[in-house]
Amino acid sequence: MVATEDLLPAVADNALFEQIQTMGHESVVFCSDPDTGLKAIIGIHSTVLGPALGGLRFWHYERDADAVTDVLRLARGMSLKNSAAGLGLGGGKAVIIGDPAKIKSPALLRRFGEFVEGQAGRYITAEDVGTTTADITYIREKTKHATGIPEEMGGSGDPSPFTAMGVYLSMKASAKHVYGTDSLQGRTVALQGAGHVGTYLAESLQKEGAKLIISDYFADRAEKLAKHVGGTVVGTNEIYDVAADIYAPCALGATLNTDTIARLRVAIVCGAANNQLADEALHGQMIKDRGILYAPDFVINAGGVINVYQEILGYDRAKATQKVETLYPTLLNLYAQAEAAGITTHQAALQMAMDRIQKAKAAKA
Ligand code: NAD
Repeated sequence: MVATEDLLPAVADNALFEQIQTMGHESVVFCSDPDTGLKAIIGIHSTVLGPALGGLRFWHYERDADAVTDVLRLARGMSLKNSAAGLGLGGGKAVIIGDPAKIKSPALLRRFGEFVEGQAGRYITAEDVGTTTADITYIREKTKHATGIPEEMGGSGDPSPFTAMGVYLSMKASAKHVYGTDSLQGRTVALQGAGHVGTYLAESLQKEGAKLIISDYFADRAEKLAKHVGGTVVGTNEIYDVAADIYAPCALGATLNTDTIARLRVAIVCGAANNQLADEALHGQMIKDRGILYAPDFVINAGGVINVYQEILGYDRAKATQKVETLYPTLLNLYAQAEAAGITTHQAALQMAMDRIQKAKAAKA
């Protein structure tokens, strides 16, 4: 993972390519159009398993270097996620720099679509933070390499219910590994983030009789969800200290760090957020050493991309659901492998994802 502070010296020291190659990216494309205000970067990490698919993030980055860092990190994450899910997809991601509330326009999105089209199918875009299915329809006017279009247009629609389903099944598999039973009845889940995924996940947990402790940056969202599914609300900092069985990070990345891992009073971490480990190696090990089972984020939050992939193949809700259900046995296998090898669950997931890419690369050579 590249931190911003690592990237700036890399540019200054003329070592940007070294950085990109260390992370294994194939190409990084800068897209500019002053007329519409478009400043975008398309990161294509790998096309070994298929076209690089990953969402379009529209974000007000303070510095251009932050946007480069984000796109490199996220594109690599998509390679791992798509590989671990067994999809015929490589990994990529795009970012548009700017405040979407201020600069997003149909013309800017169409122009971005032209840049995606220019990649000739090596990159397929989709929605992400700051973009919506409606935005994808403008991009689609210029390229067919855009997925996640609304259901009423024959697309796969909102990926969140599928992501939540995958996380829920992964929680059950994790409970099976830790407690010997996958029932979540009576278990307490500390849910961070009452957004799209968090809400669908909470509904499934409530149906199964789990107890919920909910936190959201916007307290009213947490209160609303607690009213809807039952449960108690705690502050954004308190969520790390509550006694629970499972901590489910469904808000931001990097919430597992030296401070929070020491505070957790749970047996399992299993949530939808991307890049949960602030430092993959260090904090993956710290969680293991504390005897907490960590469900690797990029494996268990693949439900959304599995659903989007089905859209590329020809949308079929039942097939997408079946594929999401395979996360349960995949995760149990992964836990067994990690234990047998004495490595962290994150390392085991990384190995699984990278092995598939390396084998495909070798077969092509
Ligand atoms: P969302 O924006 O709908 O919800 C996130 C929620 O987290 C918001 O309600 C926000 O207020 C809250 N939040 C932000 N900072 C917080 C903090 N410090 N403490 C507590 N709550 C905080 O997003 P989402 O679509 O539900 O996605 C949740 C996470 O899962 C994100 O990290 C996303 O990248 C990841 N993810 C989502 C999908 C998907 O299909 N939506 C797929 C894969 C991964």
